[in-house]
Amino acid sequence: MKIETLFPFSPNVKVRTRFAPSPTGYLHVGGARTALYSWLFAKHNQGEFVLRIEDTDLERSTPEATAAILEGMEWLNLAWEHGPYYQTKRFDRYNQVIDEMLEQGLAYRCYCTKERLEELRHKQEQNKEKPRYDRHCLNDHSHSTNEPHVVRFKNPTEGSVVFDDAVRGRIEISNSELDDLIIRRTDGSPTYNFCVVVDDWDMGITHVVRGEDHINNTPRQINILKSLGAPVPVYAHVSMINGDDGQKLSKRHGAVSVMQYRDEGYLPEALVNYLVRLGWGHGDQEIFSREEMIKYFELDQVSKSASAFNTDKLLWLNHHYIRELPPEYVAKHLEWHYQDQDIDTSSGPALSEIVTMLAERCKTLKEMASTSRYFFEEFETFDEAAVKKHFKGNALEALEKVKEKLTALSTWDLHSTHEAIEQTATELEMGMGKVGMPLRVAVTGSGQSPSMDVTLVGIGRERVLARIQRAIDFIQSQNA
Ligand code: GLU
Repeated sequence: MKIETLFPFSPNVKVRTRFAPSPTGYLHVGGARTALYSWLFAKHNQGEFVLRIEDTDLERSTPEATAAILEGMEWLNLAWEHGPYYQTKRFDRYNQVIDEMLEQGLAYRCYCTKERLEELRHKQEQNKEKPRYDRHCLNDHSHSTNEPHVVRFKNPTEGSVVFDDAVRGRIEISNSELDDLIIRRTDGSPTYNFCVVVDDWDMGITHVVRGEDHINNTPRQINILKSLGAPVPVYAHVSMINGDDGQKLSKRHGAVSVMQYRDEGYLPEALVNYLVRLGWGHGDQEIFSREEMIKYFELDQVSKSASAFNTDKLLWLNHHYIRELPPEYVAKHLEWHYQDQDIDTSSGPALSEIVTMLAERCKTLKEMASTSRYFFEEFETFDEAAVKKHFKGNALEALEKVKEKLTALSTWDLHSTHEAIEQTATELEMGMGKVGMPLRVAVTGSGQSPSMDVTLVGIGRERVLARIQRAIDFIQSQNA
């Protein structure tokens, strides 16, 4: 009797990939890049993408981490056709396969005590042999299955495992290097490598794209798949991401979690574009739309060597997308930052207008939200340096005059407000800057803002006039 897969998907799909994170922490940029490559490869081949949560390590897995990973995947807009599947919900299935393997002699029960195994290892070390299980229990039928035992996979003893890694080329491991792997522990729980094998089989995975830290697991997994009569997927092991100093990427380098990039004001488009180029390329093209990534992505173009994370380049891409994506779209992401910074945007310009006004000046959305506060709420104090520089000389006169001109306007738009400033300058025989700068400090609190007409229209008439009066009072009180 053949062991059957629980193949739940249409066999017509030619390519099916998966992302299989362990929920022991947030979704970090390395994991996100692996997920992206796996997703792109599926899409490039009109295939499907599976999300599987590998939560068998009960000590280290948390529901918070699972939620954080799902949030990260959603934010990056990497949608999955199947899942999320949870390994902890599939224990019956893994055990069913193990029982069938026992029946067919593909696996065996091992009753060896810890002491015996330790003694064995000690002897092997003394003889300078590779430590491995000596198959003591393979033909020992003296035990009752009620006695505590583990189940071991009967790994082939001859020959070698050969696979053509889609990124790294041919890899060959001699079976003499591999052990009879424990697939079920004494407490009855299946082990990690075994769960992965049954999942990849049942989920019809054709291409396994994962981090190179799993490369040692691959020959073991291939042997189990083969003994089950399961198809062996193509493997692609993606290299690691280092910090810009060549060291393993860690918190020390700044953000490492995908959601932290959201918090810092990056658009998902920028991070995705950054990650796709980090270890993959198409000529010297730097900017890729989703469609282009899908069209051009190939696993054999993925770099074998580790990549170095470069925050400046990410920032450059972010600025590009802030300027190039439709303002209405960018505004949706910007909204999150106003909430995060406790800025009430219910009265003031539309957020898409803020994006249009500030896209040139702001490289992150966090900065855009914080520097545009004055459009929505009153500021506490004038910036000290700006006061020193611009509330001097004829500033008071200029503010009084421009207030008069602005008050008299019958319409409040770019043209009329611009004219009011210009007329003030002409009448007072001042340069435009001598009017514009005090006015800027008066209505925004600082010396930086978009052009004055745009700023005045954005803030709105009532607020502008009240703020100019406040500045006049402030200068007078200082002069008194
Ligand atoms: N759960 C593993 C990890 O998070 C991935 C295993 C795999 O892709 O096969 O590193």
